[in-house]
Amino acid sequence: MHELGIVFYIIRDVKKVAEENALKRVVSVVMDIGEVSTIVPEYLTDCWRWAADKEEILKGCQLEINTIPAVTHCDDCGKEYPTVAHGKICPHCGSTRTWLLHGREVEIREIIVPNN
Ligand SMILES: [Zn+2]
Repeated sequence: MHELGIVFYIIRDVKKVAEENALKRVVSVVMDIGEVSTIVPEYLTDCWRWAADKEEILKGCQLEINTIPAVTHCDDCGKEYPTVAHGKICPHCGSTRTWLLHGREVEIREIIVPNN
């Protein structure tokens, strides 16, 4: 269960941004999570709730997850296809000379602060 470690990285980064921008509260953090990253979103939000509430600036702060679909590129025919449905074999030409274009992201997309 490495989700807790990732939550600590997210918290560290959010606190850094908050300090640099003199933010006192953060209401929501939006994460880009790739479809084939090893993150289990439910574990991530559970860990987040537990860890974020220990931080004054992040009390009650929501973690929103934006799932990035996994896409693989084929070097032989130059086309792209959905990774989860087809794996490493290109459905267009049958080649295995393919590589993952998107889908392993674990990144902070947006930090949302109160309006006032
Ligand atoms: Zn192909």
